[in-house]
Amino acid sequence: MARMYRDEDVDMGVLAGRRIGIVGYGNQGQAQALNLRDSGFVPLVGNRDDAYASRAAADGFAVRPIAEVAEAADIILFLIPDEVQPQVYQEQIRPHLRPGDVLCFASGYNIYYRAIVPPEGVRTIMVAPRMIGRAVRNLYQQQLGFPCLVAGENDPDGGAMRIALALAKAIGATRFGAFESSFREETVIDLFAEQMLWPGIVKLCLLYFEKLVANGCDPEIVTTELHLSGEFVEIAKAMITHGFFGQLKLHSQTSQYGQLSRADRMAPPELLAQVDRAIDEVVSGRFHTEWVREQQAGKPKMRELWQQALEHPLAKSEAKLQALREIVARPCEDRSQ
Ligand code: NDP
Repeated sequence: MARMYRDEDVDMGVLAGRRIGIVGYGNQGQAQALNLRDSGFVPLVGNRDDAYASRAAADGFAVRPIAEVAEAADIILFLIPDEVQPQVYQEQIRPHLRPGDVLCFASGYNIYYRAIVPPEGVRTIMVAPRMIGRAVRNLYQQQLGFPCLVAGENDPDGGAMRIALALAKAIGATRFGAFESSFREETVIDLFAEQMLWPGIVKLCLLYFEKLVANGCDPEIVTTELHLSGEFVEIAKAMITHGFFGQLKLHSQTSQYGQLSRADRMAPPELLAQVDRAIDEVVSGRFHTEWVREQQAGKPKMRELWQQALEHPLAKSEAKLQALREIVARPCEDRSQ
């Protein structure tokens, strides 16, 4: 089993006397900056002069240009979108890196695909929360923590990992647990979910909708059954409390038999071939190359795919059910009002 570290296993002393800089004040940047400050470390915040910078200033941080923060900080948390990191790194971070500096990523993407190659002597680490930014902050405030993957590149003396763990503790992750991982593992796990698991689920949901509507069922009732009732979310929560298979016991015997007896049918050889293709595209970097080209071309395919998605009858059916969505989005105790 991968080694997991909790609060009591980690010494934050390695951060003492080091200047921490946060580049980007978006989802992760804001949450991690606030958590670090509440843990006793006041980071410098680097951002362009715009709405995100105003948000950081409103939260009480002195905001400086990114290059200035890269110059002043010994530990840089690079918290801007992965797609724009290579250019910002080349222009505003790389010129200011000195031996002994630490460059910290919240995802393995750009290091695994070598879109960013830090110079010798700079410790490259990963502290990747497995949690959206808003929850990183909320769970810290509730003293609950969240899972996180940590790694250090070329780390013979373990010094990079000690800093990664200290940061994981300072942002609140080790209250739950930080797993020792790698840039490769984080990237592959993340992208394979995005390119195999979630598209598979999305496609099956659409087929479910299309087939039932073609068989005379009302689109709005099918949409409600599919996701608007919130049952989907309840099943996902039950997987945590009762186990992935254990939650099946909460369904009728007919449902249990139907699910267990039909599961294998849903993975014919053609699908397994697509699963192999997806993992191969992620591990080999072919997806990364395709995505870089798409961005360089101005994202024409992305626009087309979005248009197709929004034209699907499910999107239209959902739009008619706005009032119901608002009720389901409310906590249970408020729904009677
Ligand atoms: P966001 O999209 O929230 O980042 C927004 C920030 O990036 C803003 O400060 C924005 O400032 C800045 N930014 C965007 N474009 C540029 C640019 N071209 N030049 C300079 N600054 C720019 O990012 P996330 O917080 O979602 O992601 C940050 C990192 O965290 C990524 O590595 C991501 O993979 C990882 N991660 C994200 C999670 C999430 O919850 N979303 C979960 C776990 C990891 P400006 O106003 O100047 O554009």
